[in-house]
Amino acid sequence: MRKTIVAGNWKMNGSSESIKSLMGALTAGVVAVDGLETLVCPPAPYIGLVADLKGESPIALGAQNVSAQESGAFTGEWSLGMLQDLGCSHVILGHSERRSLFGETDADVADKFVAAVDADVIPVLCIGETLEQREAGQTIDVVSAQVDAVLNQAGSERFMNAVIAYEPVWAIGTGLTATPEQAQEVHAAIRAQLAQADADMAAKLPILYGGSMNAGNAAELLAQNDIDGGLIGGASLKADEFLTICAVAAERRK
Ligand code: PEP
Repeated sequence: MRKTIVAGNWKMNGSSESIKSLMGALTAGVVAVDGLETLVCPPAPYIGLVADLKGESPIALGAQNVSAQESGAFTGEWSLGMLQDLGCSHVILGHSERRSLFGETDADVADKFVAAVDADVIPVLCIGETLEQREAGQTIDVVSAQVDAVLNQAGSERFMNAVIAYEPVWAIGTGLTATPEQAQEVHAAIRAQLAQADADMAAKLPILYGGSMNAGNAAELLAQNDIDGGLIGGASLKADEFLTICAVAAERRK
């Protein structure tokens, strides 16, 4: 059975105080379940604080972005080595906000993906279509091109140590959610595409859904065959909501 992952993307939210309170609730409420990974991705300046606060709890730590460069004159950037130094096991790559607001291209994302896997940091590769593309019937083509851009550069072997998050752009932060059937259709298509490169890898790769997942809709989304967890934005900032989603995911492991 594939791993189930519940990942929180805190985006650019929080303060030392709010993060202490959120982590206090999460460490008190999180339960260790075989095959279930709980991950939080704080803003970069707070990664060290969260590393301290998580202590020995079964909460893994990730970043929301990273440079593909190792070190040097890259003002405002941080490296995979630095993330590892702070205890990060994962990094979100190619989030739609990075693509649309900061001009990240498929090629940039592919470079970061290769660098992350080679540094032993697990990339959470985000892909997804805009509303315009969905309405034009281009969803599978768009998502498949985003996967191909990374697959062609990184090779299928690197996907053995990766996670994909399907995040329809129109569902991120909007309160709109893909229906379980819409999400399952895309997840299955991604898995079928990867299977053409390596069936074993495709069968093992966790594919998360992201886009306004919350305590109310997690059960029906996570019940789908090819949905292996969630990448959660807004609802990950509320301990109760996030822990409820973790509990739903834990049920799925039974
Ligand atoms: C995200 O930022 O990856 C996300 C899915 O956000 P939200 O859950 O708020 O839609």
